[in-house]
Amino acid sequence: MITQVIWTSMVDCPNHVCSVLFFGTCNFECKFCYNRELVKMQPIDFDKEILPKLIERKDFIQHIILSGGECTCSPEFTDIVQKLYMEGFKVGIHTNGSNPDVVEKNIEEISFLGIDFKTSKEKYSSICNVEVNVDDIIKTIKLAVDNNKEFQVRTTMFPPEVKKEDCIKIAKLLKGIGVQDYTIQQYQYVGSATVKEQYTQEELVEIKEECGKIIYTNLKVK
Ligand code: SF4
Repeated sequence: MITQVIWTSMVDCPNHVCSVLFFGTCNFECKFCYNRELVKMQPIDFDKEILPKLIERKDFIQHIILSGGECTCSPEFTDIVQKLYMEGFKVGIHTNGSNPDVVEKNIEEISFLGIDFKTSKEKYSSICNVEVNVDDIIKTIKLAVDNNKEFQVRTTMFPPEVKKEDCIKIAKLLKGIGVQDYTIQQYQYVGSATVKEQYTQEELVEIKEECGKIIYTNLKVK
């Protein structure tokens, strides 16, 4: 179910203005989750309250990002992707990568994937507070690579649990599966997260430079 909409965003789809639809479902319980409140919100009817308004605004915004929560966990996901695609929108997703089968089913209609790679393999389940099959996440990334999709793999720098060493391991793994670039992003504290501290700008630059020796690395501080 969709529980929130940002009608105009400049930051959620690389190089495009987009609208973002947030799904109030997720199969992870990440320690640094900043979208926990989404599950408590009232669902918004996609067919009646969202799609008509997106169509009205289509001359200005053609890119729609499905986010969350975890959009691929929603039983409505495929239906919504297909309806948006049939209306001529470019559909992108922000995903934790844990549902490669759902992504594969819709890969033709998906034009952009923002995929989280939260930490190194051995720490994954601890940070996400659930048992995670990291091979599923790798499979989702490979779907993006093999289908020549525009995509971004990013790690949120959650201190002190996600460390430089984890990013270096991720960078090596990504390089090994044919990914061209990697993004590390500043952790933003919100009320429901467990940690208030952030890495300093200098620390992030150092991590970016170390990863940059392995794979081209972007740093997003906001
Ligand atoms: S995958 Fe995203 S929405 Fe789900 S718990 Fe983790 S940070 Fe929150």
